[in-house]
Amino acid sequence: MQNNQPHDPAQMPSEPQQFGAEQVVAPNIEAAAPGTEERSGLTPKGLMYWISGGGAMLILAIIGVFALVMPPAVPPLATNLGVTDNKQQVATMESVADLYTELNTALQTQDRELFFSYVSGDAVAPLTRWWDNMDKFGWTMGGISTVEITDEWIVPAEEGPAEVQTIFGAAMGFSAFSPRGSGNRDAGLHFIQGMQYTATISDDEGPKITAWQSGEAKAAWDLADLYVAKGEHSIVAGLPEEQELIDSIVPVADQAAVWVLDDFAAAGREVPLGGFNVFVSEDQANFGQWFLWPQTQEWLFDVAGYAIPMQRPTSSGAGVDPLLATGDSTSTSVVSIGPSAMSDLERILVHEFVHVVHFTESSSSFVSPPRATFEGWARYQDKRFANGGSFPGSDSAISYCVANFLSTEAAVPTDAQLTGPDASCYYELASTLYRYAEVSGYDQYQLAKVANSAGENPLNASSIVAPEGVAPLSAEGWVNWLRENY
Ligand SMILES: [Zn+2]
Repeated sequence: MQNNQPHDPAQMPSEPQQFGAEQVVAPNIEAAAPGTEERSGLTPKGLMYWISGGGAMLILAIIGVFALVMPPAVPPLATNLGVTDNKQQVATMESVADLYTELNTALQTQDRELFFSYVSGDAVAPLTRWWDNMDKFGWTMGGISTVEITDEWIVPAEEGPAEVQTIFGAAMGFSAFSPRGSGNRDAGLHFIQGMQYTATISDDEGPKITAWQSGEAKAAWDLADLYVAKGEHSIVAGLPEEQELIDSIVPVADQAAVWVLDDFAAAGREVPLGGFNVFVSEDQANFGQWFLWPQTQEWLFDVAGYAIPMQRPTSSGAGVDPLLATGDSTSTSVVSIGPSAMSDLERILVHEFVHVVHFTESSSSFVSPPRATFEGWARYQDKRFANGGSFPGSDSAISYCVANFLSTEAAVPTDAQLTGPDASCYYELASTLYRYAEVSGYDQYQLAKVANSAGENPLNASSIVAPEGVAPLSAEGWVNWLRENY
């Protein structure tokens, strides 16, 4: 699946499951004042957060933990061909392509009967749950593709049913798309919220899916029959026994959504989605298993919330709706929040929704954007939200972090710093990159978008979008500005 994305697989993290568990806390202004970060009384439960394979992190503040979890890159040609029953005929490449073409037709027309005419046996129950849940979300489009089709897909006739690595998903509730005028490769196309599955395909009397399993990361909609509540710009879903909680979150999610969408539009941007899909549980065990890879579940055991870019059908997918964006870049995202989010829910939702807009507007490789690019942007925006709409000109949290954590080498915070024990300060510092761009005459929204798709930090990306007569931003300039102003 490697394509022309600007990352080098050789430089990818060694843990194949995980490319992005990160988390942060906005240092509470009081809590982050010099010497007060461990002040008693400001200590939330579960101060120790396990991060990114490294170790535990002491969170400075009480506002919660934000995370954006990124799925692993789709494994290359992950087609394990199971040899289980010699009596059965075998799915050949042609029959899989034919089957997926039919399934895509059924998804495109939302023809349940047609879809399930190609599903039998153990696959009926999980796909029925998927379809029922998507109906509750009010899905509008759907797609299915193999991870990749190549000539290696031809299956020797004597082998049994094929286990086919598959990407499957729907556009749930709110349209998410690449605006026509965006100039992106995906311009005018829509995004689904796709996950990876293993489909077992047998070919007795024409190919059918006869078994269906989630990948290592399991979507909330595959684990339970959900309760779904709808607002104007948010859909909140969870377990039926948490209906009261779910209903109570809808108005808060709507307010956060309106702030993010209005702010984005007010900046002259073409808004790439109509609302947000939020999954919520006050049960840590439920929250902790939704959308996360097993390794990540452990890292994020006490995280407050996260946003997760989902997957798209692959570009080779047979019969995929031509209105859907395909390829192996990120698709649009879902948000999941847990019990620790409740104390500062609206700001946490703003932060996560900013992630969703950012990654919908500027699809990226699953692995290449530096954390400073997307976490700096989400923190920049949630600080504006918390400060009545403008980035604080004086801010004790930033001042504390400048005094104690600003690199003497004038370097942009690294991924390691942004997932390390002092991550909260590095998030604060990263947020100021966008404020620095703003006061230097840049359109910080454009910079955030371009930096994310280019896989660059905001300073490096500045030369791409520098206004006429404005010099590219430099780390030295940023540090001097920070020291002068904070
Ligand atoms: Zn974040």
